[in-house]
Amino acid sequence: MSSTVLEKANAFAQAPYDVLALRQDFPILDRKVHGKPLVYLDNAATSQTPRQVIDVFSDYYSRCNANIHRGLHTLADEATAAFEGTRHKVRAFLNAEDARQIIFTRGTTEAINLVAQTWGRTHLGAGDEVLISLLEHHSNIVPWQLLAAERGFTIKVIPVDDSGALDMQAYRELLNERTRLVAVNHVSNALGTINPVKEMAALAHQQGALILVDGAQATPHQAVDVQAIDADFYAFSGHKVYGPTGVGVLYGKKALLEAMPPWQGGGEMIKTVSFDAGTTFAGIPHKFEAGTPAIAEVIALGRALEWLEEVGVGAIGQWEHVLLEHATHAVSSIDGLRILGTAPDKAGVLSFVVDGAHSQDIGLLIDQLGVAIRTGHHCAQPLLHHFGVDATCRASFAAYNTLDEVDTFVDALNRVIGMVR
Ligand code: PMP
Repeated sequence: MSSTVLEKANAFAQAPYDVLALRQDFPILDRKVHGKPLVYLDNAATSQTPRQVIDVFSDYYSRCNANIHRGLHTLADEATAAFEGTRHKVRAFLNAEDARQIIFTRGTTEAINLVAQTWGRTHLGAGDEVLISLLEHHSNIVPWQLLAAERGFTIKVIPVDDSGALDMQAYRELLNERTRLVAVNHVSNALGTINPVKEMAALAHQQGALILVDGAQATPHQAVDVQAIDADFYAFSGHKVYGPTGVGVLYGKKALLEAMPPWQGGGEMIKTVSFDAGTTFAGIPHKFEAGTPAIAEVIALGRALEWLEEVGVGAIGQWEHVLLEHATHAVSSIDGLRILGTAPDKAGVLSFVVDGAHSQDIGLLIDQLGVAIRTGHHCAQPLLHHFGVDATCRASFAAYNTLDEVDTFVDALNRVIGMVR
């Protein structure tokens, strides 16, 4: 272990951040896989769920399961209050001005599709340009491609340098009076690159363009302030912030959301419905929340955000950095291993390929040793192709991972490489 990593690890041992105590919150970390203790390093795909969040489901279905908003009975009141309580927690989590700017979706993917199908469908047409980056997850590429095929606008792509950092000079040059929207991730899931979204927002706004930030990989690791970024839209997913699947969030600036047409039609999103006089719609956020939402999941998301706050998202990000540095240092000595993504500003993601060893083989074999990593294209095929590969192995860190787990992973990786070569 390098001395700087040790120093940082020791500093954490003295600080209130106690990774061993925190692990007690996660029942799944006690399980064995193929007879070995689980080392879970697939956190960028989905983080594990603390007991406090799991308990919400049991509590909700045991005590106050009811449909929300329209019921006049006690259970409906309690469920509505808990559901709307999460909206206020998310407002605080993102530092939005008003809880009505928080729209619940199924996840980041649905949040981006919502913007494409409402704002995008209204404002984008032939001659317009949407700027995305080479770092995007497919969920911030395909919704724009689908719409572009219909509406005739052009998608332009911000390139990256060899380290996987965005080429900001190219970004400046790509921005022009035709640019209507910049849609970028805050942190890349495939490489871990942290993008300068605040600076990017200022540059987009100078050109009169809006900016949508995909925060799926940022929210678990760093405090996010949508007002400081000056994001027009910001999206994230519950299952990456120690919350449940099936729920996510779209934040939007109030004037934009108010002017956007509804997306899906149905119950909950209307004011009045008439065959003769037409239908009028509810105000924000309900205009965008047709049908019965994922009530228990939303309430559980609220508890997950509380958990994040109790531990401190800043402390988590710093701890993950210690893990990343330790892992990066340890794998660097492996013969024929190439790390993809070496940007100076990087979150806890270690993506790599190994000469003479297929990523899929490594993933399957290392699982036999109890270590869960992700292999494949990470829903970022254009990015991987740019780096000349179809797949990488990716280890990604979370609040509960330890330095010992990193060592177990590196030992297991060495063994597996020895087997496949
Ligand atoms: N954007 C990024 C950067 C992601 O990492 C992911 C999930 N891997 C998504 C979007 C999509 O999130 P979800 O599947 O929860 O909608």
